[in-house]
Amino acid sequence: MGLINTITEWNTARQEKYHSKMKEKGLCPQCKGRGFHAYAGHEYAFYSSTLNCPGCEGSGTYADWNNLQ
Ligand SMILES: [Zn+2]
Repeated sequence: MGLINTITEWNTARQEKYHSKMKEKGLCPQCKGRGFHAYAGHEYAFYSSTLNCPGCEGSGTYADWNNLQ
């Protein structure tokens, strides 16, 4: 169990680092500021409004992402 805890802690630290980096840039951590989620190999997905980022509702800003948490 020690190993699992270590991995979990490492992941948490990594996520926190990522979040503070995104906060600095003012970008939504979920979509990296793009406002939508794109999947490799599905280019048509770019034109679908259903893929708007649920974290920031498509704005791509950290402020909106933070407000919606
Ligand atoms: Zn987003």
